Amino acid sequence: MADYYEVLGVTREASEDEIKRAYRKMSRKYHPDIAGPEFEDKFKEVNNAYDVLSDPQKKQMYDQGVDPNNPQASGFAQGAQGFDGFGDIFGQFFGGGFGSAGQGPIPRTQPGRDALSHVSIDLKTAIFGGVAHTSIHTYGLCPDCGGAGTRNGEKPVTCPDCKGQGFRQKVVRTMLGQMMTSAPCDRCEGHGTIIEHPCQTCMGHGRVQTKRNVGVTIPAGITDDSRLRLASQGEVGEGGGAAGDLYIDVSVNPDPQYTRDGDDLHCWIQIPMSWAVLGHDIDIDTFDGKKTLSIPTGCQSEDAIALKGLGVTKLRAQSERGNLVAHMVVDTPTKLSDREEKLMMEFAKLHDADAHHTTGRSRPKPKGRKGLFGRIKDALG
Ligand code: ZN
Repeated sequence: MADYYEVLGVTREASEDEIKRAYRKMSRKYHPDIAGPEFEDKFKEVNNAYDVLSDPQKKQMYDQGVDPNNPQASGFAQGAQGFDGFGDIFGQFFGGGFGSAGQGPIPRTQPGRDALSHVSIDLKTAIFGGVAHTSIHTYGLCPDCGGAGTRNGEKPVTCPDCKGQGFRQKVVRTMLGQMMTSAPCDRCEGHGTIIEHPCQTCMGHGRVQTKRNVGVTIPAGITDDSRLRLASQGEVGEGGGAAGDLYIDVSVNPDPQYTRDGDDLHCWIQIPMSWAVLGHDIDIDTFDGKKTLSIPTGCQSEDAIALKGLGVTKLRAQSERGNLVAHMVVDTPTKLSDREEKLMMEFAKLHDADAHHTTGRSRPKPKGRKGLFGRIKDALG
């Protein structure tokens, strides 16, 4: 029995959310469109693991030692296997099952599967939106036959062996005696038609492996680890069948200056002690160009100053933006010239003559100031 936890790289105690995140990461890593066709089996294994571990009922079965997707592989599946066999015979009796009376030929045209790709964007693109580019390897429509799979616009012809039925009747012996059953026609593989002269480019499949560049519209305010869906941009199906959807996983690269918290941007600014005391206007680089930040007189370390509306565009209210919050760090000078030291001593004499120090279990609040969160709240108004 495959260890599905190991396949997804999570512990047995992993939460639903952790399993989901691990699955997204693994499915991206091993998706054949990204990793290459040789990872097809690994990709299936990852999907199988997620199918079981994301379903509470299946997960419970699995944790008890039964693989719900592959009961034969686990302990008490013998009985179930016998049941399946019985079901088949009933199916043939009552007209169910593969290729029995009433089922038509298998269409040559099949819907295409979904495809997956990945883009990384910078924080600026997440704030304002934009277009990201990626290239995907997937099936595209055959350019020579346009999906028909035939040469020179020929049409598939009725299969002479099954007369277009797609299956052939056979007599089989079962424990209930001789029975008529049907199996797909060998000559047309169940299609009921044959292509006499297959297109040389796609060998009759109507589709070919292609590399395609895709422009992905990134909505402003997108969050890290989002998945976008591009309808009908996925894999073209057999026989030129309608394309599946293309999913794009979007990750936002960390920015060297700003971190993001919801719709707000945060940065830390180191300022000299004199600016903190006297106040100062400085220019800072924002995603909207240079903006002036006014440090008020008597600014304390960890004070937060907000520039309203310079944060991230709100995903669900595109005309609104979060704030940009600058956190102050007051830099205490460590090397003073003789003159500076003299001035500092004079300052201390004037200002700190009756200063006293306090010890306590928690950080004391500077006089007339609120705690950090109160100050951020004030800053944001
Ligand atoms: Zn072709």
